[in-house]
Amino acid sequence: MINYFIGDIMTEIEKKITELRKTLQYHSNRYYNDDAPEIEDFEYDMMMRQLKKLEEEYPEYDTPDSPTKKVGGKADNSFESVVHTVRMESLQDAFSEDEIKDFDNRVKEVAAGRHYVVEPKIDGLSVSLEYRDGVFFRGSTRGDGNVGEDVSGNLRVIHNVPLKLNKPIPYIEVRGEVYMPKKSFEKVVDRQLLNDEKPFKNPRNAAAGSLRQKDSSVTSQRGLDIFIFNIQQIEGVTLNSHKKSLDFLRELGFNTVPSYKRVDNIDDAINEINLIGEKRGSLEFDIDGAVIKVDEFDYRERLGSTAKYPKWAVAFKYPPEEKQTKLLDIEIAVGRTGVLTPTALLESVHLAGTTVSRATLHNQDFINEKGIGIGDIVTVRKAGDIIPEVLCVNEKHSDGSYVFPTHCPSCGEKVIREADEAAIRCINPDCPAQLLRNLIHFCSRDAMDIEGLGPAIIETFVNEGLIKNTFDIYNLDYDKIATLEGFKETSANNIKKSVENSKDNDLSKLIFALGIRHIGAKAAKLLSDHFRNIDKIMTSAVDDILMIDGYGKIMAESVVEYFSTDSAKELVDKLKNSGVNMLSKSEVKDTRFSGMTFVLTGTLPTMKRNEAAKIIESFGGKTSSSVSKKTTYVLAGEEAGSKLDKANKLGIEIIDEETFLGMTK
Ligand code: NAD
Repeated sequence: MINYFIGDIMTEIEKKITELRKTLQYHSNRYYNDDAPEIEDFEYDMMMRQLKKLEEEYPEYDTPDSPTKKVGGKADNSFESVVHTVRMESLQDAFSEDEIKDFDNRVKEVAAGRHYVVEPKIDGLSVSLEYRDGVFFRGSTRGDGNVGEDVSGNLRVIHNVPLKLNKPIPYIEVRGEVYMPKKSFEKVVDRQLLNDEKPFKNPRNAAAGSLRQKDSSVTSQRGLDIFIFNIQQIEGVTLNSHKKSLDFLRELGFNTVPSYKRVDNIDDAINEINLIGEKRGSLEFDIDGAVIKVDEFDYRERLGSTAKYPKWAVAFKYPPEEKQTKLLDIEIAVGRTGVLTPTALLESVHLAGTTVSRATLHNQDFINEKGIGIGDIVTVRKAGDIIPEVLCVNEKHSDGSYVFPTHCPSCGEKVIREADEAAIRCINPDCPAQLLRNLIHFCSRDAMDIEGLGPAIIETFVNEGLIKNTFDIYNLDYDKIATLEGFKETSANNIKKSVENSKDNDLSKLIFALGIRHIGAKAAKLLSDHFRNIDKIMTSAVDDILMIDGYGKIMAESVVEYFSTDSAKELVDKLKNSGVNMLSKSEVKDTRFSGMTFVLTGTLPTMKRNEAAKIIESFGGKTSSSVSKKTTYVLAGEEAGSKLDKANKLGIEIIDEETFLGMTK
């Protein structure tokens, strides 16, 4: 029998999809459940897009539990659960005019006579409010769209949540957005800073954190507000359009979403979006977009919903915001590889929902090119990254461009700039700033994965003199650790256990942990799989390393240069003596497809395309979704389409499943 699968080797695509799902899941949890996001919404949205695109292109990897099909977070069981009889859906998003027009075209196919209502998209959290005979009786969060948390007590204390409606409707459920006005946000953050508490990152998280409080009196002090934007269910009244229902909600006493407008066509809707966008900065609350909704309910019904959102609405998300502010100072930090990185210290500005006081300045060339100096008025922008960047100088107040220090701010040694490199670095191997960063990297998950040795603990150990060099990690004084503040015998033992476990890691993790320039986790794996033994890596020449598919000259030279230093040799020696594994643990590979690229098309008689892709990868080959001159083979099944024509045109060899399987025997 042929052993197609060596280990559980996934295709690159499958790996990417899994990785994206894992990352999105992580950030979704930080955002919805912990109210403490780590990345910008734009970055999250772009990742979601990438995943959606991959799932569309490779439906064989699509799964019903993907984040692309799930709404929001999970109801916290410290609150009572509320089952939403009408699902609280999310919205599909659009980032350009073209995408809005595509949406309109899809709508017109089913609802040619549609009108739209355009509203600002409030950046808060979605809630449902329920009234019986005009009296508020329950309010809940969206949760995962089907089940939310009962936060009635906290909603009651929000000024604009009416406890009694102007008309005693038998039953009505409305949906709205709880938000924290900018003014309230500033007050809350000031108070938090005064009390040495960690401040909320932005008004959206502040609103979510304040509404999901156990103590309603805390909620009441946070200055929350609400805008209502939909009727979920109603008894005793019939309405046939969104605009009419918003008007009716106002009559009932609700604070409806401001400036909603009904328009006849998509161009007017786009115009309205632009008008809302222009007002964005001057509004008293944060918005993260504008929503276009089909007005007529009968059309909405015809259009229906996907698993995640209604097909009759789209949210346009505004591009990242820019603001001008003063550059107060420039801070220089020393990174793991000794690179000096400049950070702009700014007069605080409110930007895309957060208060910004630091921004990246990249390097000396960037500073020179833009002519940035301390005291200048600069433009900052937040674009997908958690760290905003300085874009340009608007008003020059300094004499010229800022110049980097000539000596390392951490160790005082002279810094250098290598030819053809933008970075200025400190090359003192004993530089304390570098040691700390190297240690953090060495212990991190993708490197030696030493659980318990996180950045703060490493810093404590360095300060206590327990670690002076990387190899000291394998020589820790656990008795002393147990006596340190915040540690006990059990915590010291747990660290010992993780340190000991890390000795058995595959060689690839150690190679990555060494922090060789240009060698990431993937390159470390290739190196380890190829040479299988650290001694062989240490004695190989650039040409030997260049034999590895995926390695270029810069990477190969970097490996040779690293292992040529005495400090690297000493480190490896000491790690070896401490019992750290120096061998590759991955199975020896049959790499008969190495350097070959396959394109798979059509339906194969006995196997799925992703199975064939796994076989190709297991033999060291690559797969690609499009045919080009670089394609080695096109593996074609039935109903293969345009890829086959292109292969014929380019003279690429086309093989069937039988031939392919023959090649693997
Ligand atoms: P969404 O925020 O893109 O859109 C749906 C929500 O918009 C609804 O739940 C509703 O409450 C709200 N909304 C506000 N005004 C509205 C109006 N006038 N009409 C209709 N709805 C209105 O989708 P989502 O599923 O709630 O959240 C996804 C978004 O959350 C992402 O786009 C991302 O930006 C952000 N997010 C960020 C992170 C992060 O780590 N930064 C993580 C997860 C999610």
